[in-house]
Amino acid sequence: MKNLGFGLMRLPRTDPNLQEAIDLEQFKEMTDRFLDRGYTYFDTAYMYHNHESERAVKKALTSRIDRDKYLLATKLPTPKLEVPEDMERIFNEQLEKCGVEYFDYYLLHCLNAGLYDLAVRLGAFDFVQQKKAEGKVKRFGFSFHDTADVLDRILTEHPEVEFVQLQINYLDWESPTVQSRLCYEVARKHGKDVIIMEPIKGGALANVPPEARALMEAADPKKTPVQWALQFAATLPGVIMVLSGMSDLKQLDENTAFFNHLSPLTEEEKAMLFRCGDLINRSLAVSCTGCEYCTADCPKSIPIPQWFDAYNRGDDGRALAKDRPTPADCIGCGKCEKQCPQKLPIRRLLAAAKQGMKW
Ligand code: SF4
Ligand code: SF4
Repeated sequence: MKNLGFGLMRLPRTDPNLQEAIDLEQFKEMTDRFLDRGYTYFDTAYMYHNHESERAVKKALTSRIDRDKYLLATKLPTPKLEVPEDMERIFNEQLEKCGVEYFDYYLLHCLNAGLYDLAVRLGAFDFVQQKKAEGKVKRFGFSFHDTADVLDRILTEHPEVEFVQLQINYLDWESPTVQSRLCYEVARKHGKDVIIMEPIKGGALANVPPEARALMEAADPKKTPVQWALQFAATLPGVIMVLSGMSDLKQLDENTAFFNHLSPLTEEEKAMLFRCGDLINRSLAVSCTGCEYCTADCPKSIPIPQWFDAYNRGDDGRALAKDRPTPADCIGCGKCEKQCPQKLPIRRLLAAAKQGMKW
């Protein structure tokens, strides 16, 4: 199995302002090209694209391609669970939306200390084990956003878990909040397969500052910043899959071509990337990955990641403010911060963006 997975959370859209406006024709073409090049792994989730990613999977993939030609992963939306009955209802809904009879990889979505306690209380681990026994799930894992000690606790208490999905990239490798390296080491200690998410940190590692780009070009003038980031993630031992949320055919072409020629980084190259990480960290006002988890519950429908993106780019925000709610509309309820896997102080950062931009 080639280890590039197609993340289905940043699909091409016919309207860039609407998460659910998935460009199906382009997605179908991307799906065909991905498969033609020998890649097989597709990663969706209940919540992606305002709950439309799984439906798009049915239209672009499962209704068109033989079931044994691809691997499909999706996730139980742990943050949305309230009572045990929610799990069966949502699981059946997911099978129906995706148009399949089983999932190859099934994850508890977005576990952290609080959501782990909820998952245990509702019996989510037993639930997925039951689905495995019924043949509706082939492999069981979870995606994770918390510190390494929490990961160690979960894997110690649940040895039945087969793999973990971690946020790993050279920028977060030594981050005190994300703890990429420490989490990776815990997963390896427990002998778990690792799937990597956010290898390009939501695009932040694609557009690096000039000083970082110069270091990369000096090491290899032909390699792009995205390729450096993917190589860092993909060549770590024990990594079975690196997910890339590809948004157009060009990205898909570049990534699939690059994964055909992967070789491990030298120690010197790794040191160069960590130095780039320091430079990028210094240049980023907000380290938002654009995952959109924060927007679903915002009572003011503020496009939070789009504001952070504009702020990071030094945009004045005028264009975005024309037809979208702005940071000035924030009522400070804090609902967004409860959902943010990066633990960003969103209210404070929105206030800073509001002050720093003149729309
Ligand atoms: S704190 Fe502001 S941005 Fe966050 S959910 Fe509430 S209104 Fe929306
Ligand atoms: S602010 Fe947090 S939750 Fe919202 S898009 Fe950025 S990283 Fe995701």
